[in-house]
Amino acid sequence: MSVVDRQEWDVVVVGAGGAGLRAAIEARERGARTAVICKSLFGKAHTVMAEGGIAAAMANANENDNWQVHFRDTMRGGKFLNQWRMAELHAQEAPQRVWELETWGALFDRTKDGRISQRNFGGHEYPRLAHVGDRTGLELIRTLQQKIVSLQQEDHEETGDYESRLKVFQECTVTRVLKEDGRVSGVFGYERESGRFFVLEAPAVVIATGGIGKSFKVTSNSWEYTGDGHALALLAGAPLLNMEFVQFHPTGMVWPPSVKGILVTESVRGDGGVLRNSDGKRFMFDYIPDVFKEKYAETEEEGDRWYEDPDHNRRPPELLPRDEVARAINTEVKEGRGSPHGGVFLDVSTRMPAEVIKRRLPSMYHQFKELADVDITAEAMEVGPTCHYVMGGIAVESDTAAARGVPGLYAAGEVAGGMHGSNRLGGNSLSDLLVFGRRAGWHAAEYAAELAGVRPVVDDGQIDSAAAEALRPFSAEAEIEEPAGGPPENPYTLHQELQQTMNDLVGIIRREPEMEQALQKLAELRLRARRAGVEGHRQFNPGWHLALDLRNMLLVSECVARAALERTESRGGHTREDHPGMDRTWRRINLLCALTDPTGTLAATDPVRGQITLARETTEPVRADLLALFDKEELVKYLSEEELYE
Ligand code: FAD
Repeated sequence: MSVVDRQEWDVVVVGAGGAGLRAAIEARERGARTAVICKSLFGKAHTVMAEGGIAAAMANANENDNWQVHFRDTMRGGKFLNQWRMAELHAQEAPQRVWELETWGALFDRTKDGRISQRNFGGHEYPRLAHVGDRTGLELIRTLQQKIVSLQQEDHEETGDYESRLKVFQECTVTRVLKEDGRVSGVFGYERESGRFFVLEAPAVVIATGGIGKSFKVTSNSWEYTGDGHALALLAGAPLLNMEFVQFHPTGMVWPPSVKGILVTESVRGDGGVLRNSDGKRFMFDYIPDVFKEKYAETEEEGDRWYEDPDHNRRPPELLPRDEVARAINTEVKEGRGSPHGGVFLDVSTRMPAEVIKRRLPSMYHQFKELADVDITAEAMEVGPTCHYVMGGIAVESDTAAARGVPGLYAAGEVAGGMHGSNRLGGNSLSDLLVFGRRAGWHAAEYAAELAGVRPVVDDGQIDSAAAEALRPFSAEAEIEEPAGGPPENPYTLHQELQQTMNDLVGIIRREPEMEQALQKLAELRLRARRAGVEGHRQFNPGWHLALDLRNMLLVSECVARAALERTESRGGHTREDHPGMDRTWRRINLLCALTDPTGTLAATDPVRGQITLARETTEPVRADLLALFDKEELVKYLSEEELYE
């Protein structure tokens, strides 16, 4: 049996971004001894990068705002494929979560009369994003970290040990969720610095590992986004929901090549920035889809007036949901009206005085100055689409965040599916993290308490298999067994091939033959990844870490490609050139991915021999009182005849 450090906890949270920290705080406050594990340093999660703000209908900037309007915007943005109960809970609870952050010490920007300031963002009817300049995520994480430290101080006073009830294991990677009789029994992982293995035994595990962007070549995502949580769930027997929906943010940097993909926050457009093509035309007016026609300005004059008088004018089309803007930019570039480096122009310099730009968008000012030598107070930025967010994720129960099919497993944040439907509105992620992070921590703690005394036991055999799997890259040459036999492979080469495949064949615009080609390539890469070999030893060895992450990226990429091939319509973050329209019958269909044996029926745990199997599921009808929030004419655009009749 492998020698590993073992500890017992009530709840283990995998991930220390906004969702993970909020879950950990809740679980600890409800009495559960809680451990948090993260790949990076504590306080360094991807959430730190969030710029624009957190969406919550607090009605500080426009008194007409309320949770019902926020719910409507979220459902429209997601093209009605959202798990509506999640969208409802999110819209109702987001304001409380923001105020709560403030009581924990968050310092938001203020309105003139001293309330939390709220800014405009795409798809939100009213100014709704609470923000701290363009560094909102940093403040969110700082506040949650501070709250954790204060809870640890309370514990120290009572028990003499800061970490007796809440402990953070930083720079550690979880590679397996362990189970006994179908229920969660703990997690297996390794310390990134020493390479030592460890097991945390716990009846409840919350997955809060964020997204999958590192499977794509051009992305705004950080190195941590290798789809680990999605794969952990899949390997543990929990299905993934609607993985075809990947958001390409319209405005990433396109130049210089070394920084291609880095995000240019939507606040630039929210604060008045306009998009122009190489002819100087504000082209977004040509791209307002029918479903949004009534809500958006038809002329530049009306769009410009909206910034001063939103009650009597319609918003400019630069503020359409992200999927619409990304597709429009893609078309402009493809039709030869792009900027010199293959993007379009985003101009804020002609819209605001330099000092206002520097005050409202300080990170953007520095980002362009330092990385591209562009002064955004004097010239336009060049921008283009970048892989940004995954709407698909672990299928969860709306109220409890419990993952389907695996008792004891919970998921929150970007790794969880359903909340955003086919497309997320900007600002709705930070609020999602807090609303569902709290719910996941709460229900995980309750579940663990119910199991007190009869906890699942960690099986030694599972620890041995997890350790053998993690060590395989050190003996890649010995891997001659079918079906994966062949020479060792370089994990970096495999990663590059994967990123190129996903970018070129399952990217922003999708076509059937290309996705079939992608699936063939992914199958080949999955076999070759089995032989991903590394040299050296387990002490901080990034090649080894990547070799292990590849398993996750490949599984998740296959889910994206399979689901994208199956869904023969275009909706939100999924655009099929061969099926350009939104099809109302598809609104009723969720696609679930599972890892199964070759018969497609039994759950599998082997990432090479297991196969991704797709199943269709009918979505739950939207509750009548929620449907009543929309005009009938609008519903006709989304719902099927059958649903309308019902
Ligand atoms: P994260 O914050 O990414 O945390 C994931 C955690 O999981 C990390 O601690 C990581 O180390 C850990 N982890 C991952 N795998 C493992 C593993 N195997 N073992 C152990 N730990 C693991 N959204 C908004 O609402 N508003 C914005 O203004 C906004 N701006 C953005 C700007 C940028 C540049 C980007 C990229 C995104 C932005 N988003 C924004 C989206 C938002 O930031 C993310 O969706 C959100 O932060 C995800 O939070 P999370 O808690 O789910 O995951």
